[in-house]
Amino acid sequence: MRKTEELIKESEKWGAYNYHPIPIVIESGKGVWVEDVEGEKYMDMLSAYSAVNQGHRHPKIVDALVEQANKMPLTSRAFHNDMMGKFLKKLCETTGFEKALPMNTGAEAVETALKAARKWGYEKKKVEPNKAEIVACKNNFAGRTISIITFSTEEQYRDGFGPFTPGFKTIEYGNAKALEEVVTENTVAIILEPIQGEGGIIVPPEGYLKEVRKITKDNNVLMIVDEIQTGFGRTGKLFAFEHEGIKPDIVCVGKALSGGLYPVSAMLSSKEVMNVFRPGDHGSTFGGNPIGSAVAIAAIDVLLEEKLVERAAELGTYLIEELNKIDAPCIKEVRGKGLLIGVEIKKEYGGARRYCEKLMDEGILCKETHQQIIRLAPPLIVLREELDWAIGKFRKVL
Ligand SMILES: *Cc1c(COP(=O)(O)O)cnc(C)c1O
Repeated sequence: MRKTEELIKESEKWGAYNYHPIPIVIESGKGVWVEDVEGEKYMDMLSAYSAVNQGHRHPKIVDALVEQANKMPLTSRAFHNDMMGKFLKKLCETTGFEKALPMNTGAEAVETALKAARKWGYEKKKVEPNKAEIVACKNNFAGRTISIITFSTEEQYRDGFGPFTPGFKTIEYGNAKALEEVVTENTVAIILEPIQGEGGIIVPPEGYLKEVRKITKDNNVLMIVDEIQTGFGRTGKLFAFEHEGIKPDIVCVGKALSGGLYPVSAMLSSKEVMNVFRPGDHGSTFGGNPIGSAVAIAAIDVLLEEKLVERAAELGTYLIEELNKIDAPCIKEVRGKGLLIGVEIKKEYGGARRYCEKLMDEGILCKETHQQIIRLAPPLIVLREELDWAIGKFRKVL
């Protein structure tokens, strides 16, 4: 038996069967490339669902992690540490928000935002106790906690996990009128992704976010934008909501804030919203820890110093153009923004999974989402020549 099968067997024997990975066992990586246990090299076109925008093992981010690990890794929030303030200052100054609350995973950042919105609703909007409503959009993805899957419309994500959390409504994505119709005096927030990532790289109609911003302002409802997958340059802007020139009340960030090294997430907002939290209201043992803070500072620095936002814009346009030139009858549509791209395969040509497996045989790693869509999201440090190589492979496989 090859090492690959052995290792897959081992993790299947001891682990839960909650994922169905592409059959490759990765051992090392650098930049855009990873190597498996058989010594084969692959281009990473998934970037851990956009957590590795800066590329694998970026030396500056690794140095920050190692240095902090050798000095002071974890204090808990029972005490102050000398890194968290620096991290939050950098995060707020880079993003233009007044305050940030650090957590670890994306789901926790979303939970934090939901709690903030509810408390804001009771304290500032004067919603009656326990009546707050939060609106979400169909086909969303915001994580896997019970409250978050409450507003998922994906049957499998919910099946067997009820009862769910009250206080959520779902409406059509991309249709601002639908929001107008469900808003009541108890509505405290809408949560949405600027582009639905897990949902299949769904880009809403132009003007949608702007309209939602207007409706939320007019009705004193908070606009929560989940930028966990789209943030930090992925779509060719620092945040995808910038494509429409709006500013949300709350932004959830995660994934690439970690530089692909160590989980760091956060909720960003104004003082008015953040100040609803008081000591004891909310917390996390690891949130805001010194290692995470040091890593996130370096991850943001790399993003800015290496102009990864601009690179994503330029190379994304190029990649979409080149993919559109591929003349293959199986392609239904190529769509996306920046380096977050979906290639939808026509149903009669089978699911996207077999295309991902064929691409793996050709040295490219990507993963299907929602049966028919191949998601392409290489690290933003990818070179144009590397993309050209990949395009050749896509042409062959498609
Ligand atoms: C990945 C993701 C999350 C959840 O992040 P985790 O770190 O897996 O908890 C939330 N929202 C969006 C849009 C995501 O892509």
